[in-house]
Amino acid sequence: MLESRELSCTELTEKYLNAIGKENAALNAYIRLTPETALETARRVDEDIASGRSLSPLEGIPMTLKDNISTKGIETTCCSKMLQGYVPIYDATVWKILKDQNAVLLGKTNMDEFAMGSTCENSCYGGAGNPHDPVRVAGGSSGGAAAAVASDLAVYGLGSDTGGSIREPASFCGAVGFKPTYGTVSRYGLVAFASSFDQIGPITQSVEDAALIYDVISRQDPMDSTCTGRKTAVVPDLGKGIRGLKIGIPREYFDNVPEDVRKALRNTLKIWKSMGAELSEFGMPSVKLGLPIYYILACAEASSNLGRYDGIRYGYCTPHYQNREEMVCKTRSEGFGREVKRRILLGTYVLSAGYYDAYYKKAQDLRGAVIRAFDDVFQKCDLILTPTVPTTAFPKGRTGGDPVENYQTDICTVPVNIAGLPAVSIPCGSGRDGMPVGMQLIGPRFSESVLLNAAYRYEQETGGEPYRVKGMGVDL
Ligand code: GLN
Repeated sequence: MLESRELSCTELTEKYLNAIGKENAALNAYIRLTPETALETARRVDEDIASGRSLSPLEGIPMTLKDNISTKGIETTCCSKMLQGYVPIYDATVWKILKDQNAVLLGKTNMDEFAMGSTCENSCYGGAGNPHDPVRVAGGSSGGAAAAVASDLAVYGLGSDTGGSIREPASFCGAVGFKPTYGTVSRYGLVAFASSFDQIGPITQSVEDAALIYDVISRQDPMDSTCTGRKTAVVPDLGKGIRGLKIGIPREYFDNVPEDVRKALRNTLKIWKSMGAELSEFGMPSVKLGLPIYYILACAEASSNLGRYDGIRYGYCTPHYQNREEMVCKTRSEGFGREVKRRILLGTYVLSAGYYDAYYKKAQDLRGAVIRAFDDVFQKCDLILTPTVPTTAFPKGRTGGDPVENYQTDICTVPVNIAGLPAVSIPCGSGRDGMPVGMQLIGPRFSESVLLNAAYRYEQETGGEPYRVKGMGVDL
């Protein structure tokens, strides 16, 4: 529409800004809007169109960034009191790539503080609501991005996934959430939570959009020594047949999954079979180790990464203190929320002398066992199919702050991060409560083309309509 001049980029951007103005209050998906930046970019895109220049794939498309992705000149807080007022002096690599393509940034989206959580309720701005039912959680930690995309208050959003934070909110909100292979998307400028797990990826209304965005943002980056970029582009492979594709179903992922979610997933199996996929069921006991491994290692890494918030270098500093030690102590006590403090304490504990071998080292060893278990499974099959989350989105406040109950939400998503694998969550029907259910597909490292093509074929087979709540957001 932009290229054929049916619609100008300024008009498109204004439509999104107006819809956000009307609908964001109920969802709290955006915690900061950037209308000036958006309209300024839109004006540039319109000039380019007028001059006859052809557009790059994501040019002029209104989008959002999670608030832990650094944006030069735009406050970036990780939804923590600790970083309120912090304005980065550089752009995250992913944002630099998109900015160079004239992506239209509408604003920054809500998240659990420092990306720690599964409901978005740990945000210093209050949680995000689920567009399907705003009294329910949007999921976390990228809850704002998922809520914005599912309600069409943005075409797409970038989130981060350390233990499920892209896939879980996408599943709860009925959107597509894609976590790429570790090391294919730069982490430079992503505020660190657990560096050996963190990965940036898109939340979208279709698998095709996820593939388009991945192809653009996945590049080798000298600023992130772990980032090699993608090996091949995904988009050219979309639409290939999947006859003979071997999909494995590990039984353990279905333990304790309620019947309605199970049923939604069972229904997908018929569709996969009709497309020619070969399904097989098997045991994968190491899946059960996922949560303890993740919560030991991620907390350990977080306790080290969050050491930098000392009141001197970034954001919040306590106003009253006698000496440096008291300043640091009060700054951290006042600046961090409960969940972040809990993780710093747990992480410091598992790293301390006397406990290191029993917890940290043991978890590292078992991380190796999980990686090997996936490697073995991928000898037998091309992809793995599981629920994304064992439940649908639940009402806000359900867990009453019980951390262990919250951690259980991540049981199906963390093994992927432990092994650095790519995985995508796509909507597959609804539960008894009418809320969306997500299906997770997991592939071997660097299998993005096979993985996203399979998801794309499923999406086409089941209608190919954008995944969004009808009647919300922008109608073009
Ligand atoms: N829910 C998980 C946690 O609380 C994952 C978070 C994430 O992926 N950032 O750690």
